[in-house]
Amino acid sequence: MKSNFINIKSCFAEVIRPLVGVQRFLLIFLIVSGWVFTPADAIAKLKEDQIVPQATNARLGGDKRRTRFVVDISGSIGYAVYVLPDPYRVIIDLPEVNFQLPSGQGSSGRGLVTGYRFGLFSPGRSRIVIDTSAPVLIQKSFVIPARNQKPARLVVDIVKTDKKTFQKNRKSQLQAQSNAEKLAGIPIPVPKPRGTIIPGFNKKTDRASKKRAKKTIIIDPGHGGIDSGAVDPRGVQEKRIVLSVARILKKILLKTGRYHVLMTREDDTFIPLRKRVEFARKNDGDLFISIHADTVNRSYVRGTTLYTLSEKASDVEAAALAQKENRSDIIAGVDLGRQNDVVTDILIDLVLRETKNHSIFFAQTVVKGLKGVTKINNKPHRFAGFAVLKAPDIPSVLIELGFLSNGQDARLLKSQNWRRKVSRSVAKSIDKYFRS
Ligand code: ZN
Repeated sequence: MKSNFINIKSCFAEVIRPLVGVQRFLLIFLIVSGWVFTPADAIAKLKEDQIVPQATNARLGGDKRRTRFVVDISGSIGYAVYVLPDPYRVIIDLPEVNFQLPSGQGSSGRGLVTGYRFGLFSPGRSRIVIDTSAPVLIQKSFVIPARNQKPARLVVDIVKTDKKTFQKNRKSQLQAQSNAEKLAGIPIPVPKPRGTIIPGFNKKTDRASKKRAKKTIIIDPGHGGIDSGAVDPRGVQEKRIVLSVARILKKILLKTGRYHVLMTREDDTFIPLRKRVEFARKNDGDLFISIHADTVNRSYVRGTTLYTLSEKASDVEAAALAQKENRSDIIAGVDLGRQNDVVTDILIDLVLRETKNHSIFFAQTVVKGLKGVTKINNKPHRFAGFAVLKAPDIPSVLIELGFLSNGQDARLLKSQNWRRKVSRSVAKSIDKYFRS
């Protein structure tokens, strides 16, 4: 059955291969432009924020027929603006921007806008995602240059439309988007998370293939960049907690000398769910571990929970959680409509029984290991349709470390000691899993 996947894999390779040239160009550019030789100057410049423009404020005006979004930026920059359906959103793509907006901005809306969020989308590229209550069209967008000590302003006017007109205009807007991206010099989205082994480019490849005896563990810290994940009442973000735990687990696993360890993200960058699965398959992962933390309305609910893939959720809560985690791409404004549905069908249809059984066995091993180490949820192993667990040939689990909505769990989640304790236990379970 495994040979069925070769074609899909080579498709992914086609997407990733052209980036090698871009990387080379960037490196040459950095050297030529003097970064390598004058690091002190470069750092001084960065400190003055002359390289990364700052967004200092944003506001909404207008009504339910026409709404204006304005963001203040320290200098004029290129941008691309377009709309997405399911749910209706307006996306503003920018070069990297340092967002210094007053806290709470974007949590409420006005007119056609129900709220907005902002952050890093991929290295060197920032994004603002504006949620709208109805299908909209971009009536106009422009930049007012900085003048009389006032910052530059990026203005986007949206107007209400019907579904039909939205669909008709979307195509021309997508065209406008790609043109605008070229004009703005916005880097093409980077589908390659750091750490990818590219045949013929990375010198480690040959050594890596000889070391196949070593199992490859893919650690997937959830969320990142524009998508913060769950947030506790004091503003502690899931994306930071899970990245820290992932780093600790990686370190412990590397120390054993028994594993190759790759992370789907090494820093605060957003990675779409599908790219995480692609990354695991591209790198021939032997085990995929996605790390998350949750919040629920009932603050008494607590404990670590392990999830494995199933089209039928084991209970209502598991189904709700999968739906919440799967929203990550929507939160970050990923255009799901432009993805290859053939691949989706294959991915869903061919979840092999063997992979499934391995996933379940590993999840149970982790649960057993964690007993006595930390508080386990009363239903510690559950099933649901998590998009990130859909690699058909790699056993995959999702660990919800605990609940930020529970005081005791939140304290543990913030403790370095606890993070190390849990990571050591998971590493032991990985050993156990591969031994049997
Ligand atoms: Zn999460």
